[in-house]
Amino acid sequence: MTSIQSFIRRLPKAELHLHLEGTIEPATLVELSARNDKFPLTLHEAERLYRFSDFSEFIESFKAVTRRLKEPEDYELIAWRMMQQLHAQGIVHAEVFISVGVIYMWRNFDPRAFEPIFAALERARERAARELNLSLYWIFDAVRHFTVEEAERVFRKAAELRPYYPSIVGIGLGGDERHTGSEPFRTLYAQARDAGLRLTNHAGETTGPEAIWEALAIGSERLGHAVTAIRDDKLLEELKARGTGLELNPTSNVRTGVCPSFAAHPLRRYFDRGLLVTLNSDDPALFGSDLANEFLLAHTEQGFTREELRRLAANSIRASFLPEAEKASWLTRIDTIK
Ligand SMILES: [Zn+2]
Repeated sequence: MTSIQSFIRRLPKAELHLHLEGTIEPATLVELSARNDKFPLTLHEAERLYRFSDFSEFIESFKAVTRRLKEPEDYELIAWRMMQQLHAQGIVHAEVFISVGVIYMWRNFDPRAFEPIFAALERARERAARELNLSLYWIFDAVRHFTVEEAERVFRKAAELRPYYPSIVGIGLGGDERHTGSEPFRTLYAQARDAGLRLTNHAGETTGPEAIWEALAIGSERLGHAVTAIRDDKLLEELKARGTGLELNPTSNVRTGVCPSFAAHPLRRYFDRGLLVTLNSDDPALFGSDLANEFLLAHTEQGFTREELRRLAANSIRASFLPEAEKASWLTRIDTIK
């Protein structure tokens, strides 16, 4: 490990844009398939499922993986493995999307199917808090290109469970932005906020800056991707004035063809403009890069110095939904890392 890699590892970091189902390594998928499939996948077949060349094929890969998650124990296994991976990178806090909309879809929208799965995820989370000292919140993610009613089902479940599980911190919308924007979800976002949930949203990944304006207009507090904001100077000023947390995922954008290279990603330009940018891995197993590697690539591809990497780590804590006192204590720790 080089000294910069060791520095990155030691920096306390938060990961704020991470899909649980996108953290499943092919070897784990083989294990799940052996449990659940009539004709279990070989490692070679599993690896083939992780190959895609554009955004639409990526969605197909994501579906092929999630389709093999059946029992609550499967979720407990993938969650625990994810938490071990986070801990190994020096991540101290994570806010993780669960594709609740997809879970419902594979279970014929049976409302009883979700709670045992969530209880299993909570077992993994509690174990990680105890054994790894990792703090973790859940964000219930709906699929925007399903219907508004499906999103409502997901957000209502988050609101219903939140009093019992304070780890459910917020809601989000993923899926295909080219198909559905944010405006149809305005009322649902207001209701979620009233229920004490924080509001995230994927915006400006495969669509232009107008989709980001729309996401802001319905009250989104933190934005995933926001790659195309670079085309709209007024929007950049607005994001800065609001202090909106931006969950950037450079390698993900390169792998889905949204961005030609890591070097060309607007990360550096946003950062230099003073936006609240954070680095994230999105779906590390599918994209072949984890958060520590995104930090390293920021250094090698965009010339981020140690002090700038430190600021990125601090941004990840600031943009998180942690209580202020916890943020302050991590920020102090980040300052002491040599
Ligand atoms: Zn995402």
